Amino acid sequence: MPATDTDVSPDPHPDDQWDEQVDLLILGTGAGGLAAAVTGANEGLSVLVLEKTEFLGGTTAYSAGTCWIPNNRFQRAAGVTDDAQVAGGYLDRLVGDKAPREVRESYLRNGSAAIDYFDRLGVRFWHSATVVDYHPEIEGASLGGRALEPQTFDGRILGRENFGRVRPPVPEFALFGGTMMVRRAEVNQLLTLLQGSPKAAPLAVRLGARWAKDRLTYRRGTRLAMGNALVANLFHQLLERDGQVWFHATATRLVTDAAGRVIGAVVAYQGREVRVRARRGVVLAGGGFSSSPQWRTEYLPTPTPQYTRAGEGSTGDTLALGQSVGGSLSAPQDDNAFWFPSSVARRKDGSVAVFPHIWDRSKPGIVAVGTDGRRFVDESVSYHRFVRAMYATNTVPAWLIIDARSLHRYGLGMIRPRLPKAYLRKYLRSGYLHAAPTIRELAEKIGVDADGLATTVADTNRYAATGVDAEFGKGTSPFGLQYGDPKHRPNASLGPIEKAPFYAMALVPTPLGTSLGLRTNGDAQVLDAAGGPVGGLYACGNDAASMSAAEYPGAGCQVGGGLTFGYVAARHAAHAVPSPIETLASVETS
Ligand SMILES: Cc1cc2nc3c(=O)[nH]c(=O)nc-3n(C[C@H](O)[C@H](O)[C@H](O)COP(=O)(O)OP(=O)(O)OC[C@H]3O[C@@H](n4cnc5c(N)ncnc54)[C@H](O)[C@@H]3O)c2cc1C
Repeated sequence: MPATDTDVSPDPHPDDQWDEQVDLLILGTGAGGLAAAVTGANEGLSVLVLEKTEFLGGTTAYSAGTCWIPNNRFQRAAGVTDDAQVAGGYLDRLVGDKAPREVRESYLRNGSAAIDYFDRLGVRFWHSATVVDYHPEIEGASLGGRALEPQTFDGRILGRENFGRVRPPVPEFALFGGTMMVRRAEVNQLLTLLQGSPKAAPLAVRLGARWAKDRLTYRRGTRLAMGNALVANLFHQLLERDGQVWFHATATRLVTDAAGRVIGAVVAYQGREVRVRARRGVVLAGGGFSSSPQWRTEYLPTPTPQYTRAGEGSTGDTLALGQSVGGSLSAPQDDNAFWFPSSVARRKDGSVAVFPHIWDRSKPGIVAVGTDGRRFVDESVSYHRFVRAMYATNTVPAWLIIDARSLHRYGLGMIRPRLPKAYLRKYLRSGYLHAAPTIRELAEKIGVDADGLATTVADTNRYAATGVDAEFGKGTSPFGLQYGDPKHRPNASLGPIEKAPFYAMALVPTPLGTSLGLRTNGDAQVLDAAGGPVGGLYACGNDAASMSAAEYPGAGCQVGGGLTFGYVAARHAAHAVPSPIETLASVETS
């Protein structure tokens, strides 16, 4: 439904007070901001998006772009019932009263509607039908069906200049120095080449030829995948609908009318202060605070994480803007973030590479220990649960221990499988990887109790033979087993550590997104301390308190949440009729 002129508050502010006037002003170009922008533009609103960095896409551009959307179109087509009772029950049991039920009900109601809406516009997804929810032990969890992957996108559609604006992927997640993106499924196929199987050769040739051709004209390959594909496609849809994006543009202040309604922002842009009027509202979508050392110190557990793979722009300033006009933060909880256990290395150019360990912990022949040399968790749980266990047991850093055979077969962190020995040297020299001829010597090298580690390895080797992890049950959960080695017997996740040399790699907690954010209602309106909406102000993505608090129901709940509540916010801004009280307040102040 297009916007009408009759459902806005009378404007008490003269036009000449503003340098620029739009219907919807959006701060941030991640999943949340772009979803709001595309939806707003498609609903007939004039839209301006501000991005404070030089690149579009924020953390979303770095991400896998997975969206956790219960009751999605693919499930419905397959006749799978995943309604409020099933998925909602799962969330109720997982989240309880840590987050308002109204918000997760809105997520469940609007998530699949948002995906269908974007699909109609041309932002399409594939079904990741086998991805298991992160708490399969809780009733209502899905053993496959709720995760969606953005379809690949041809960056050439954007034209060279706009393509150059899309944030490049994390170099370690792409091939050829970060210039060639491949889907996870393609990585798995390409890896079979290293095992001598020629089946993936046509795929390799096709991807390689396209990449080589692209490189004649572009700085990187234009076949975009995962989060990069998602933000690039949303950017394209926005430009098609005359939306604007300003780069290097930071909102420094929100402007309110006398009734406290947000009516615009002051923006630092091109060396001056620009006053932007937002007739229908301002959407905060700055991506939370993963990249702010101050916010991390205040809200994340100790030892405070020093690193993150999140985009550098997510520094909490949009949260502070929301607070400055009366918005309130959700109640802090134990951790206030979603977590990756990451290994950290320095790149050749001196920059820091933070590598999330998502799948390798599930492989056979890998254990994680603390300084006592003992395990503290089923290593194959989700990355979020793994870090929570690190904090709960005071195991920061944790050490991954692996032998030569498993390292060669599965790789570890940034070290890819079947890497020739000579190439391991640079990782050893830099201290990213530690090696020793015996387990005891390895323990001494990394400052871990040698008796403890020797006992752990002996136990691990016994579990590998029996197929039963008597301590933590690694190899029993459908979540962990999906990333095990199906060819390994008797258990896909349990293998021995017996072939020298032995290796160790340190893991530290890194937030991949923050869950503490501005309180919102089911319409994505920011709420004040009394629980009422701050007129004209919305929040989505990590700027809004997570619908599941710091609980992680399944792969994609953050990008999925960003898309859902960006869509909800823009539709509300486009179509909501202001309440009589809001209208009255505006008239009285004119
Ligand atoms: C490696 C990695 C993989 C991940 N994979 C997934 C996944 O597959 N699925 C999933 O759900 N989650 C994933 N996550 C987490 C997820 O990517 C983020 O939580 C999510 O993308 C955040 O989206 P957002 O829209 O809130 O913010 P962002 O995508 O971070 O975008 C916010 C943007 O706002 C800009 N900004 C900030 N302040 C201002 C300001 N004042 N004015 C203007 N602009 C501003 C920032 O520069 C940034 O570009 C992953 C995270 C990482 C690090």
